[in-house]
Amino acid sequence: MKHGVAILGATGSIGKSALDVIERHPERFRVVALTAHSSVAALMALCARFRPDFAVIADPAHERALRDGLAAARLPTQGLGGPAALATAATAPGADTVIAAIVGAAGLVPTLAAARAGRRILLANKEAIVCAGGLLMDAVGVGEAQLLPLDSEHSAIHQCLAGAVGARGGVRRLILTASGGPFRTRADLTDVTPEQACAHPNWVMGRKISVDSATLMNKGLEVIEANWLFGFAPSNIDVVVHPQSVVHSMVEFVDGSVLAQLGTPDMRTPVAYALGFPDRVASGSDTLDFLALGALTFEAPDRERFPCLGLAYDALRAGPAACIWLNAANEVAVDAFLARRLPFLGIAQVIEETLQQAPLQAPRSIDDVLQNDAMARRKAGALIVRSA
Ligand code: NAD
Ligand code: MG
Repeated sequence: MKHGVAILGATGSIGKSALDVIERHPERFRVVALTAHSSVAALMALCARFRPDFAVIADPAHERALRDGLAAARLPTQGLGGPAALATAATAPGADTVIAAIVGAAGLVPTLAAARAGRRILLANKEAIVCAGGLLMDAVGVGEAQLLPLDSEHSAIHQCLAGAVGARGGVRRLILTASGGPFRTRADLTDVTPEQACAHPNWVMGRKISVDSATLMNKGLEVIEANWLFGFAPSNIDVVVHPQSVVHSMVEFVDGSVLAQLGTPDMRTPVAYALGFPDRVASGSDTLDFLALGALTFEAPDRERFPCLGLAYDALRAGPAACIWLNAANEVAVDAFLARRLPFLGIAQVIEETLQQAPLQAPRSIDDVLQNDAMARRKAGALIVRSA
């Protein structure tokens, strides 16, 4: 039987990798639903290529254009608009698999809906688990859903732990690798431009995660993600910089043995691993040429030049509300940096100052999470205006 797949954030970088893998296995997968934020043209092109049952444009201003376009193209796809329709796509009948590839906290509500509906969730949207890890893991349990990571580091750990999310036995620590980003060797970060920050040495990704990689916040968010997915305390999750991005992460066991997962830097590999799990399916990625690689190197992250990594550890230790505030402040600050309203070094400053105002009380419902998110966005926004 074919797996029906819903892709939230289909027009993005992860969406593209996912559709590439899916297209290689027409006997295994069928696209049931696709969503995008505001690009009707890009979503329409995907609808023509994959003929899904549902297409959702999150920005309601574009719903009419989507419906008209689908009708004019005589496609069998029902067009829907607005953020609430993302959950409709995430729970679409016939979709047993949901690829959560929206960027930011905007992906949280549909990802939770997929969990409650018992879907197999392939999670790229790390901001969702950073903001609501407890609620998401609970929903996965109650809905009897399955959660598989798409982030390359967490996919590597999942593979090293022989496929078990939440399996701690015998493990001493998780070692997340980080490329170090485009500024690993740049001393002065004062005049960094958005173009420079988005030019990642090893990966082609969306703009937000590219900036996160440049500040090392991406690794910080991944530490929080690993904490929820695999159940390790922050003191058992280490980060090591590995500029070649070939070792995607490692697990050290109590006997001193270390398992690593290696591969070319190509997101189609973790996508294919999760789509096929427990089978292995082809991803289209190149074979790893060890002789061309020559050497693999490792170094400590520079926590002074990249304070965002430490801020993420601090937030994880402080609790779930602080993680929401960290994420929201980061989203607002990165947006402002990309719009040239905040210097690169201002990103960490805004997050640090916003975090100081985070409440201690843990959110108990999705409404609590969204309220914390909104409050933190307001604080961070005000700090940016004040600093301008
Ligand atoms: P992207 O910017 O390329 O794509 C984002 C997608 O989300 C697009 O389809 C966009 O239309 C949609 N979207 C954006 N804002 C939205 C909103 N408010 N409502 C609904 N839809 C919205 O981003 P990406 O690089 O594909 O990253 C997606 C997620 O995957 C992020 O959480 C990122 O951290 C994670 N991730 C990405 C990579 C990568 O290689 N790109 C690797 C690991 C994890
Ligand atoms: Mg990653």
